[in-house]
Amino acid sequence: MSRGLLSRKNHAPFLMKVATAICLFSVFFYPIMKIALAGDLPAEVTVRLLGPDNTPLPPEKVPSVRKSDEEWLKQLGPERFHILRTQGTERPFCGTLLDNKKTGIYFCAGCDLPLVSSKTKFHSGTGWPSFFEPFARENVLEIQDRSHGMLRTEIRCARCGGHLGHVFPDGPAPTGLRYCLNSEALVFRETSER
Ligand SMILES: [Zn+2]
Repeated sequence: MSRGLLSRKNHAPFLMKVATAICLFSVFFYPIMKIALAGDLPAEVTVRLLGPDNTPLPPEKVPSVRKSDEEWLKQLGPERFHILRTQGTERPFCGTLLDNKKTGIYFCAGCDLPLVSSKTKFHSGTGWPSFFEPFARENVLEIQDRSHGMLRTEIRCARCGGHLGHVFPDGPAPTGLRYCLNSEALVFRETSER
């Protein structure tokens, strides 16, 4: 019994080293692991599609959109692939949709899911298109993002897992949220709705 205790004591420094190694691994490799996990969408997801009056239809189950990196690159081209599939960020004040003031819906450039409406767009001064709420909460995933030494909430498309941007708690009323999205992650379609 005493030998057993001694043996456990001798293992303590080793276990501490293992725990330290796991912590360090999590801090440095978590962002890389997360990219690898981005393809882990369930076969079906619940989202809200676009209704005839440009408002969300009731939630419904649809197949998720899952493709290989090669397929995504071929479909999206290098710039959109960089943003959507490798969590890239376009340079501020460079996005094509930053100053778009037309009435319409912004869709996912990867899978065409409606993501935000012009009715919720506002001028944030940050250099990226900003919205105070998504088209439907079901259509975006929120993921804790610890990359670049910051704690942020990443936003992804709920149907294809594509990286869209981040959401911050400093937006205007009525939500107080700022969905800060990359133009390259979006496709805009004008509607006649006022
Ligand atoms: Zn998508």
